Amino acid sequence: MSTANPWVMVGKVTFGKGVFAKTTIPQGTDLGQVTGKVIDDADYTSAYCIDLGDSLSLEPRTPFRYLNHRCEPNCSLHLLEVVYEDGSPAPSEVHLEALLDIPEGAELTIDYQWSADGAIKCLCGSDQCRGWVVAMEELPQLLKSRARAAKKASKPKAKSAPKPR
Ligand SMILES: [Zn+2]
Repeated sequence: MSTANPWVMVGKVTFGKGVFAKTTIPQGTDLGQVTGKVIDDADYTSAYCIDLGDSLSLEPRTPFRYLNHRCEPNCSLHLLEVVYEDGSPAPSEVHLEALLDIPEGAELTIDYQWSADGAIKCLCGSDQCRGWVVAMEELPQLLKSRARAAKKASKPKAKSAPKPR
């Protein structure tokens, strides 16, 4: 049993699954709440989880579980502050919103904005691709630490190389 989302459907992409527009989606559309299991563990991590702040993560259910990353996404996640009836803060709701007009059949993507220590190479192929699946503000730190690692790795080699005569 599942309530079908009127906007999106899960489809196949070359490396797994993706989320696609079932119909034309106007910019600014709230595509629905990303539901799932809220996990209260600061160390929790998975390929799909969404950081809700503090120690909370959301492990999303289908269809939004299959949102893929793109450095130029057409959607983004919004955290909605929620309060219980007595006014105390409840876990935030996550909603997906269309950043652009999206044609029917197009894949919906978000910017994962991972931290530098979890970054992997990005193959999204967009013109603005950062080369890494990483948050824009974490990119300088990532590139610096990569450059440092490359220098370290090449040092012993340089020392043992024979001196040119
Ligand atoms: Zn990219």
